[in-house]
Amino acid sequence: MFYLVRIGRKKVSVETVLDLLVKIQNLDDEIEDNEAQLTQIPRDTAKLEKQIAAREEDLKNAETRILEIKKNYKMKEIEIADNEDKVAKLNAQTFAIKTNEEYRAVLNEIDFLKQRNKEIEDGMIDLMEEEEKLKNSIDRMRAETGEFTARTRDSIAALKQRIGELTKRQGEARAAFDRDFDQMPEDARNLYARVTKVRDKAVCSIVDNTCTGCFANLTHQFLNELKKRNKILLCDNCGRILVYTGSRA
Ligand SMILES: [Zn+2]
Repeated sequence: MFYLVRIGRKKVSVETVLDLLVKIQNLDDEIEDNEAQLTQIPRDTAKLEKQIAAREEDLKNAETRILEIKKNYKMKEIEIADNEDKVAKLNAQTFAIKTNEEYRAVLNEIDFLKQRNKEIEDGMIDLMEEEEKLKNSIDRMRAETGEFTARTRDSIAALKQRIGELTKRQGEARAAFDRDFDQMPEDARNLYARVTKVRDKAVCSIVDNTCTGCFANLTHQFLNELKKRNKILLCDNCGRILVYTGSRA
């Protein structure tokens, strides 16, 4: 394509252009990889934050439930005492009762209140059992949540630090790419841009006489041409720019 080109006042050899093509491809790969990480890391961080929040919410719910149980238990105690009070008063009334009908009514009410208290007591036993269970697990839950939160916060801090490093590195990589890209003659720049539009990678190395872009075998003759490094050559099969980077022929 071109053996020697002039960029500004500087002459650039094809060898230099080939080296630049390899360099800008590597930078392009790195930029893409950095970008993928810079997109992924905040998602990972958000996921970890959510996990912490969920654990802390579970713990809080358990703690709230224990308080609720205590309160319910107290209310049931009051209700039982209240009913017992009523029963005592009704018992006292029975002495003054004149008719059988009235007597039966009072006894029915006493029975009802006693039955009601039995039900309340059953409910209290359930509450006690639930409280016991929660109390047994809450210490472990607290310890696990604390440990998980501390560990996860460390991971989040490491990820945030990684974002800082990547952002810095990304700026450097982009600057290096622009600088090297500008070093190339216009033909090479246009070629690179054109191949990049249709392929994941514009520049490919050769491994085992194969194009690493499409894995097509290269003919001996073509390989020898590539080894000369005095032309920009494209893979016949995939159209990517092939650069021989092994020992010179
Ligand atoms: Zn190819």
